[in-house]
Amino acid sequence: MNRRRQIYEGKAKILYEGPEPGTLIQYFKDDATAFNAQKKGTINGKGVINNRISEHVFTLLGNIGIPTHFIKRLNMREQLVRQVEIVPIEVVVRNVAAGSLSKRLGVEEGTQLSRTILEYYYKDDALGDPLITDEHIACFGWASQEEMHDIADMAIRINDFMSGLFAAIGIRLVDFKLEFGRVWENDFARIILADEISPDGCRLWDMASGEKLDKDRFRRDLGGEVEAYQEVARRLGLLPDGADSAVLDLETHRKKLR
Ligand code: UDP
Repeated sequence: MNRRRQIYEGKAKILYEGPEPGTLIQYFKDDATAFNAQKKGTINGKGVINNRISEHVFTLLGNIGIPTHFIKRLNMREQLVRQVEIVPIEVVVRNVAAGSLSKRLGVEEGTQLSRTILEYYYKDDALGDPLITDEHIACFGWASQEEMHDIADMAIRINDFMSGLFAAIGIRLVDFKLEFGRVWENDFARIILADEISPDGCRLWDMASGEKLDKDRFRRDLGGEVEAYQEVARRLGLLPDGADSAVLDLETHRKKLR
């Protein structure tokens, strides 16, 4: 195996130098963390599934004209992406009250929101990713007003598209997190979607039963994490129905989720 230079190691991914300038290899780990990395564990096979789900969603988003960093999937755990300068803001899109919004504002989990809410968090682990407003972003120069306009615009388009994509397979897209980056073309910076979209950063609830098909299974010690992630992949058509029944006994998995 050729030794590649590691650029960065995050909680769920490693970034390596890519084969050409301006590219990176994004490696998906099985590690899972929650509550600002106070809770740590592994979800066997998660990296493989997230790589596949993220490839799928980024490809579909690319097809509707959202610029993304995704170039191609290389193997089970790796994808080739464009190198970006990450905007230090986590963009959370919410359709249904859950998680920190419910806690902070006392709104019952599962309450449908009358309009989509966009929230921004400053990406800083030491500070615990604090909630911020446009005012902080402008004041501290984390992104320009033009860039924030593009980011908000893309986040809403992504939400509309993904809500439909998941609704069509019986899944309610409750909320999710996005990250964006800058690519430089001559002296001009353009914003593109970066990072990943997978059950690690989305809340996905089965529409019929309400069961959670995302990282809340890990956060809340519900068990059945692998089965939940596989179920999302299966419904997206990424795991053939009859595939590898020894590994993927879906009926058993589904029962375990209940
Ligand atoms: N999220 C994420 N990374 C973070 C924080 C949040 O991917 O560092 C996602 C999370 O999975 C959920 C959404 O953003 O889908 C909203 O998370 P919330 O603010 O409710 O925080 P949580 O309850 O997950 O701590």
